[in-house]
Amino acid sequence: MPHSLRSVIPRARRTTAALLASAVSGCLIAASAPSPTTPLGIGDPLFPTLGNPGYDVQSYDLSFTYPGSNSKPLTAVTKIKAWATQRLESVNLDFAYGTVQSVDVNGVPASFTSAGEDLVITPAAPLPRGGALRITVRHTSDPVPAKSRDSGWVRTNDGLVMANQADAAHLVFPCNDHPSDKAMFTIHVTTPDGYTAVANGVSRGSERTGGSTTWTYRTRHPMATELAQVSIGRSTVLYRRGPHGLPVRDVVPAKDATVLEPWLKKTPGQIAWMEQKVGLYPFETYGLLIAQAQTGFELETQTLSLFEKQVFTDPAYPAWYVESIMVHELSHQWFGDSVSPRGWSDLWLNEGHATWYEALYAEETAHRSLETRMKAAYTRSDQWRATGGPPADPQPAKAGHKISLFRPNVYDGSALVLYALRQEIGRPAFERLERAWVAVHRDGTATTADFEHLASVIAGRDLSVFFRAWLYSEKTPPMPGHPDWKRDPVQAPTAARQVG
Ligand SMILES: [Zn+2]
Repeated sequence: MPHSLRSVIPRARRTTAALLASAVSGCLIAASAPSPTTPLGIGDPLFPTLGNPGYDVQSYDLSFTYPGSNSKPLTAVTKIKAWATQRLESVNLDFAYGTVQSVDVNGVPASFTSAGEDLVITPAAPLPRGGALRITVRHTSDPVPAKSRDSGWVRTNDGLVMANQADAAHLVFPCNDHPSDKAMFTIHVTTPDGYTAVANGVSRGSERTGGSTTWTYRTRHPMATELAQVSIGRSTVLYRRGPHGLPVRDVVPAKDATVLEPWLKKTPGQIAWMEQKVGLYPFETYGLLIAQAQTGFELETQTLSLFEKQVFTDPAYPAWYVESIMVHELSHQWFGDSVSPRGWSDLWLNEGHATWYEALYAEETAHRSLETRMKAAYTRSDQWRATGGPPADPQPAKAGHKISLFRPNVYDGSALVLYALRQEIGRPAFERLERAWVAVHRDGTATTADFEHLASVIAGRDLSVFFRAWLYSEKTPPMPGHPDWKRDPVQAPTAARQVG
């Protein structure tokens, strides 16, 4: 196992020391101040210091320069355009892992320091409410994860990809790291010859100068920071057409293009299937980013979903299963990306729907009964609620482990809520609701209450009692239409482990 000297120094100390050291050379105010700052958040109960109050980001312009090794920091420039929603004497960004060289606000050097996982910026003069805010941060972006903290960068065999969900984008670049503040993204990546860089959105061209290339991509729709994607590798980019001419773009290791093609060519048909269920694909392009990495998960990064290569090459996975996982990430482009959760307790809306379409696709194309899967989920639902919380009131993630929020209660446990809803209001109303949901909230953020409201409007009756029981109760309610379905009693795992 490689050992890096960097990992010996505790992350918080190193970050603070680096920030203060830069502040001394760049601006004396922050260095001499006795840390008057505290990390702020926007009040998400699952991540109290994620996101920041007082401004609304319009756009990010990110520039990364890859040094040709995925164990060295990238140099980076992050430019943020925002509006102040209140008078600001200082501005907090989320940024916790990298060295900041300088910060400018509206073209004027600003002082900066760190507080927890925030970069606290003090502009030369306070910013008025409603004022435009242009922040430029010059910094490094370190792909080697800190000890006991998952990174946003994922190191692959031939470069890097990104997996920021839920709270790791601010380990990669300074940002307002919460899905409630979506913004437009332009991403520039400079790589040495031999590498290909791809990011969210569509290409805006590439420019080659003396041994390196700068690739530029831009989103045409707003995006949450957790869905940002940058792939750097020895990759091939494959193009094809989806329904009604939609550009489909896959990014795969160059040597694996042929072996992966039988899977990649399934995407246009899967998009057509999803469009038939919920309406037009919401973005400018789609495709798979297949990485040689052990992430243990796939991720719906906007317009370019991240998959481990192993999903497609391990013969242990049956074809129907692989395809249903492809549809899971594809359906997130509607549920989770185009319609983002307002807070992380709304995560069940992402994963419940993605699991729903994953299971429905398996039923319609591979005869894997949805009802059988839901009956099995019903059996285990009380246990999932006991260990992970009810679907819309999940327990917090384990600190530093970005995927630990992603428990069965938000996957099959939440698809089960959608099944119960379909049982309750009937299939036609349920299908109308699904199409209306992604149309009404397209490119926006939405809450669990918004879903309950729309469901009630479409069903023509108040469903608040139904949702309270299914989304917030410790015990799973009786399944409408299946009075015979039974739930396993909740085990006491801690006690069992202690005596065992
Ligand atoms: Zn998912």
